[in-house]
Amino acid sequence: MSGRFISLLPPLRRLVQGGFLLFSLFVGVRFYQFFQWAVAGGDYTPRPPAVEAFLPIGALVSFKQFILTRQYDPVHPAGLTIFMAALLLAFFLRKGFCGWICPVGCVSELLHSLSCRGRAALGRSARSLPLRLPPWLDKPLSLLKYLLLGLFLYLILWQMDLAALENFSRSPYSITTDARMLLFFQHPSRLALVIMIALAVLSLLFRNFWCRHLCPYGALLGLLALAGPLQVLRAKEKCIDCKKCEKSCPAAIDITGKNRLTAPECIGCLECVACCPQEDCLTLTVYGRKKITPLLLPGGLLALFFAIWIAAVFTGHWQTSVADDIFKHFYLRISG
Ligand code: SF4
Ligand code: SF4
Ligand code: SF4
Repeated sequence: MSGRFISLLPPLRRLVQGGFLLFSLFVGVRFYQFFQWAVAGGDYTPRPPAVEAFLPIGALVSFKQFILTRQYDPVHPAGLTIFMAALLLAFFLRKGFCGWICPVGCVSELLHSLSCRGRAALGRSARSLPLRLPPWLDKPLSLLKYLLLGLFLYLILWQMDLAALENFSRSPYSITTDARMLLFFQHPSRLALVIMIALAVLSLLFRNFWCRHLCPYGALLGLLALAGPLQVLRAKEKCIDCKKCEKSCPAAIDITGKNRLTAPECIGCLECVACCPQEDCLTLTVYGRKKITPLLLPGGLLALFFAIWIAAVFTGHWQTSVADDIFKHFYLRISG
């Protein structure tokens, strides 16, 4: 594959990430309008099912219920669909959900580029500040996301039996999780505000802080990607140790220290492949054997994601079966 096509990967990724970020903002605004209609009256806006993408814990509950009973969550079907799509993408396409679709990852990268510009403007001393935590702190902190994941898996997969899962799914709490999330961001407690500001500052100081150290969703996807077929290989003999790959890697992976990039933090963004000046030094492969064109990753990712979405819409696994008036009833109870 010629370098001309490989160099298209970063702008293509910005375009895809930007598209999903804008779509997420649109969904947020539409959900806010729906909520306002429910609690304050006025013009009706339909509830956007995609808002359920922001409820991964509820999706994990629905996922277990689906595995045990083969019943699809009727309250948050879109949440379950997106969750299962993310699992599939993580396994087959190198955690590509994080690298190409997740709006939080996109915001995290935007904060990083903002920070780089700020450092450049502030001069040499600011430019020399480290973008990563020192290894003695980075490594143990990276384990935090697995601890959080372990906690959720323990509470949901281990502790909740079928009756508990069904009680939760039908509860007013479950029906109002989307509205609770909105209220959380609209009126954060002082502690929540401090935590959010701290995370934003840490993301400005250290590249990809939330995703690399704390996100349990990303931890789950990373573990699945470990067993997946796609891997970036580094041909050691062709590498000139220029470190351009490491500077461009949003996941802050120590690329030149490895020949096979299988770290669970790798988000399949292919920025390293695109910026490597040595032809065929970094290549995308299937299980480290068959070399494939890097464009197959975003192509497959988008094709699979949209195919799942279209299938869900046409088979009734997208739109909630809860009537708007029921949402209204419960939203009024929690907004009082
Ligand atoms: S690690 Fe979490 S927040 Fe970051 S991109 Fe992945 S799912 Fe999104
Ligand atoms: S960009 Fe390519 S040549 Fe440079 S250090 Fe990375 S792998 Fe080696
Ligand atoms: S190793 Fe390469 S593909 Fe993986 S996250 Fe870093 S830049 Fe992206």
